[in-house]
Amino acid sequence: MDNKFPGKDVTLSDLKEKFPLVAKKNKNHFSSFRIAGVDFGPKNLVTFAGPNMVESEKLIMDVAKNVKKIGANFLRGGAFKPLTFPYRSKKYYETRERGIEWLAKAKEKYNIPIITEIMEEKYIELVSEVTDIIQIGSRNMQNYPFLTACAKTNKPIMLKRHYGASLRDWLGAAEYILYEGNEKVILCERGVSVPHTHRSTSRFLLDLQVIPAAKELTHLPIVADPSHATFWRPWVRSMTLASVAAGVDGIMLEVHPDPENSAVDPLQPINYKEFNTLIKEMNLISNKINKKRIYFE
Ligand code: PEP
Ligand code: MN
Repeated sequence: MDNKFPGKDVTLSDLKEKFPLVAKKNKNHFSSFRIAGVDFGPKNLVTFAGPNMVESEKLIMDVAKNVKKIGANFLRGGAFKPLTFPYRSKKYYETRERGIEWLAKAKEKYNIPIITEIMEEKYIELVSEVTDIIQIGSRNMQNYPFLTACAKTNKPIMLKRHYGASLRDWLGAAEYILYEGNEKVILCERGVSVPHTHRSTSRFLLDLQVIPAAKELTHLPIVADPSHATFWRPWVRSMTLASVAAGVDGIMLEVHPDPENSAVDPLQPINYKEFNTLIKEMNLISNKINKKRIYFE
């Protein structure tokens, strides 16, 4: 592979020099690590599923029970939510600390590890006591002091790609986390912004190409989030399967018992039945490409 290809945003020699910790040491260098009993690595496909927002205790309990039964490895759900505009009903702002308590209850009762976003440094301690993986949202991807503070907890971190970030920007941000000695870093592609002239499909575009591109350069596992990328339920299935075929190490999906009535982004979640079918289809592809689906049991 010609790493000097001038059309590339970043090359391996660049990376080895400037971002030595994220760079692969050789062609077959892929990180493997375990988080809460779940193995991440080149042979595995890990599934994260749950609502966009932890809307209520009842909702998160129901989702935890069902996604666990269907085969999700991690329960996802935002208690602290980055919302595009501030005018929402009070409910959205009340979840926060209570949402973290509900996640803790669901984790305990259904024995499923969790991933949830932290947005501000002052909540790092509170959230890290409960979460198995800290989610750093797209909007905070280049908040370097925040990345460093999260990294210092030594908790595993999922770094979502900002929708305007190049692969170089994204890997540079991951380097900040590794630099603190925190090695359990997972990258998550969640769709890139497309110019308004090309928005006949959607606001974001799942960057499938970044999957092989990242795999050429970094040993870190990479996850795709087709729910945020498509923003549109009918396309979630095909983009999930395409991501698996492209070689992701995990999939993050919004799953809700009543998607149309999801408090946030009701156009993107899938229901339990759809999740059940999709996870079987994901397995068919991952087995074919020598990735073993793992169940947390
Ligand atoms: C999310 O996963 O809940 C989320 C807000 O995603 P993103 O940061 O990618 O927009
Ligand atoms: Mn969202």
